[in-house]
Amino acid sequence: MLQINFSTLSLLNTTVSLGYGGFMKKAPKPNDAKPIPSLYKQGFATALQDWYRLNCRDLPWRNTNDPYAIWVSEIMLQQTQVATVIPYYGRFLQQFPTIEALAKAPQSAVLKAWEGLGYYSRGRNLHKAAQHMMAHHGGKFPKTLEEAEALCGVGKSTAGAILTFGHGQKHPLLDGNVKRVLSRLYDVDTPPAETATTKAMWTYSEVLLEESDDAYTYNQAIMELGATLCTPNNPQCLLCPVKQWCDAAAAGTQHERPVKVAKAPVPHFHIGAAVIWHNGKILIQQRPQKGLLGGLWEFPGGKQEANETLEETVHRELQEELGIAVTVGKKIATVKHAYSHFKITLHAYHTQWVSGEPTPKCADAMAWVLPTELRQYAYPKANLRVIDALEEGLAASKTPKESPNATLLPV
Ligand code: SF4
Repeated sequence: MLQINFSTLSLLNTTVSLGYGGFMKKAPKPNDAKPIPSLYKQGFATALQDWYRLNCRDLPWRNTNDPYAIWVSEIMLQQTQVATVIPYYGRFLQQFPTIEALAKAPQSAVLKAWEGLGYYSRGRNLHKAAQHMMAHHGGKFPKTLEEAEALCGVGKSTAGAILTFGHGQKHPLLDGNVKRVLSRLYDVDTPPAETATTKAMWTYSEVLLEESDDAYTYNQAIMELGATLCTPNNPQCLLCPVKQWCDAAAAGTQHERPVKVAKAPVPHFHIGAAVIWHNGKILIQQRPQKGLLGGLWEFPGGKQEANETLEETVHRELQEELGIAVTVGKKIATVKHAYSHFKITLHAYHTQWVSGEPTPKCADAMAWVLPTELRQYAYPKANLRVIDALEEGLAASKTPKESPNATLLPV
């Protein structure tokens, strides 16, 4: 029996007891003005499933019941659009067709396969979780919610999705799409990230799923509704198969749900980065495993400080981070990139090593590589754009690629 207090949702100071055979409500207080919304939406699951069967998109992970493939798709789809994920998904499964193949691969190969997809901790966590499954689950995706949630990078909703789609079980979901749909269906007037709201939404998710006799279809359908009709900025209520159960559509508040929290301004940093040449090779370094873009390779550099030119930034950063002196030459590229909590403009320069033994103080490793070897490593997106520009410059240069310094470095 589950006890839920809805006072934080501004519904009513009413305690509701839920059981899966039905539910009971305590009588409202006499002075309660707002009507009690119904938790249970009879006929909702059937209508949603019928709509899905007629309208669902044909997506590659819907043509398999292999828990491993479904797990990969669920992780890739976190904060990433379907169209972006599809080519990565196919290539990833081709390269790592089983949990065992993924577990045995070096992390560098996994990050290379993830290159450009963003949120790289997802790739690192997949790799770690595959090794955990080899050690503890015989190389199979576990079958209990508790074991699935114990895997690196797998939360309650992701675990529920994989167990539903891959093991035929019945678990409620609460990913971003489902949260948006539920916040409108129940006209939730508090931000979904608040603990009490999240808790209530899990209850909504459980109650609605309970009516379904086909958890696979229901869970696919509620996610599909959020992805295609009940979208963030333009919910298409006139086409919606569940409009008659939607409290926000009835109240005309669908555009105000989910409730948004005012965001702090996004900081913007200018980064000076160096393509450091020495004897025809380029120095790259590997970011620390823990932290943003962990394990990826990059051109050394760092944030521009106040009253500093970008060339001065490059000089200072290389001195501080590698203990080397360089001469700074032509600019290679200017690349803008947005991360989840900040934006950067990366300014990359040709530089020539002059003195000092490079010692990475803020990196896990470094390597001198030929320009033709650069793409053997995995990089963040902004660095990939620098490599594109670098290769274009080298191709345009009449100087042999093995000794580009003479013309590319007017220092
Ligand atoms: S009626 Fe509109 S707001 Fe409500 S679930 Fe459907 S699309 Fe979303």
